[in-house]
Parts: sequence; C-alpha cells; structure tokens
Amino acid sequence: MSSLIPGEMLAAQVVKVTHPSPSCHIQPVTSYSQFNERYQIHKIPTPRSLGPNEILLKTAAASLCHTDLLVTAGKFPTKLPRTASHEGTGIVQAVGSAVKDFKIGDRVMAGLPKRPCGDCINCKGPENWHQYCQNIEGCIGFLVDGAFAEYLVADSAFSAKVPDDLSLVSAAPLACAGITIWGGIVRAAVPKNGWLAIVGSGGGLGHLGIQMARVKGINVIGIDAPDEGIALSKEAGCEHVFDARKGKEEVVREVQALTNGLGVEAAINVSYHEYHAA
Ligand SMILES: [Zn+2]
Ligand SMILES: [Zn+2]
Repeated sequence: MSSLIPGEMLAAQVVKVTHPSPSCHIQPVTSYSQFNERYQIHKIPTPRSLGPNEILLKTAAASLCHTDLLVTAGKFPTKLPRTASHEGTGIVQAVGSAVKDFKIGDRVMAGLPKRPCGDCINCKGPENWHQYCQNIEGCIGFLVDGAFAEYLVADSAFSAKVPDDLSLVSAAPLACAGITIWGGIVRAAVPKNGWLAIVGSGGGLGHLGIQMARVKGINVIGIDAPDEGIALSKEAGCEHVFDARKGKEEVVREVQALTNGLGVEAAINVSYHEYHAA
C-alpha cells in the first residue's frame, strides 16, 4: 500500500460522548460506547490490509440516510464504536489482490454489502438481496465501518464507477436512496410513455425517482403534501404535481382526469404518512 496513505485518519463514529462538551472533537477511541449519542470524531488507524476483493477509497463525499439515525438509536446489532454512513464515494487508493474492475485513481460509489456469502437465499434469490445475506460480514456504516471517515474500505463486487459527468457529491446518495427508488422503478416496469405516480415525490427518494423515470421516457405524476415537497417535485422536473392535502378522493380524481380515466400503470409510495397515500 502506498506510503502516501497516512497511518491515521479522522472518522465520525457512533459512540458515547465522554467529554463534557457535546460538540465533536478529536480524542482516542473510547471503549465506553453506547447508542443515542452524537457522532464523535476520532483519530483511528487508516485501514492497511485489504481483502482480495476490497478497495480502499479516499472519501470524497458521504451522506446521511434516515437509516443512519436507526443505527445511532441502536436498532441494529452494531458493535461500537462504529464509523457511520453507508452512502459514500471516493477515489481508489489501493486494490485487493483479486480486484480486476477497479484501479487506483478510479472515481467510485461504495457498495453497501461487504462479503456476503453468495450462497444463501437472499444472495441467490431472484431479488439479489445481498445486503440481507445471513452470513454477511456486514453493511458499511451498520456492522462494519462506513463512509464518515477520510478513508473507506468497500467491497468491489458491489461498488460502481462514477461517470465523469456526475459529481462525487451527487453520486453519494445514490448508494442507498438512489438504488432504493431505482429498484422500485424497475419493478414497476412502466413502459415508455406510460404513467407512474410517485407518492412522496418531493422527498429524498421521490425527487430522485422523478428524474430517473423521466430519463426512461415515463410520464410522472408527483404527489406530495408539504409546500417544500411540491416545490422540490417541480424542481426535479415533474410536470404534474398534485397536493395530497386535498385528500385521497380529490387526488385520485385529478389523476383520472389527467390520464383520460385510465389511471397510472403503477404507483410507488415512498411517503410514510398515511394520509399522503392516494
Ligand atoms: Zn440508507
Ligand atoms: Zn448470503
């Protein structure tokens, strides 16, 4: 591994705050760790050894997902301290002995799963849910260290190169939010020029889904409730945005009117509010 890679790095970790000040500060990693506390920035060793299929990234961007809050709340069997974030991008600094698809200098979006078994029902099932593998080493930011650090180790089998015309900042949320809504769009299988409704279109997943569906030539109907959600839906390129605050019946009437009484081919609900559902 290159001698240019420092021996230590900074990492924002899920830990117990032991300092009187609640703000982030640098201190040695403590073994007194617990959940429901703010992240704390620690100086920890930079990963030095890579598994055969692993790549070391110098982190460029890492984003916060709602699920990170669940990790902080102790909803997963996370051993602490643990570096957070499962949405990271970076530049490849080193590659494992079996890595063929990545080289030093590549711009990469880190995959979530690390070392799933490849043999269990979730790995081999039709959905390819490697992140739910029963024998996995862990998903980054959950059971193994994630992207809120200066360097990040990712499994090359689940990572992807980032195109030159996409910034590493914009690419980071695609590692979770992006592929989640993309999975919904693929499963919805709306044909080109067909109609897709996205309930919660002005949220983190919804506004990405609008853009993805439009690239596929799908007509998108956005449905959201807060003013900001409606504004973001339009900003993301949605031409038909309906206000869920009018109630289910009115939104359904508007959808029917827009689609000549045929309705949409599919609806994706990414809103967690019951009254948003149409
Ligand atoms: Zn996530
Ligand atoms: Zn498996």
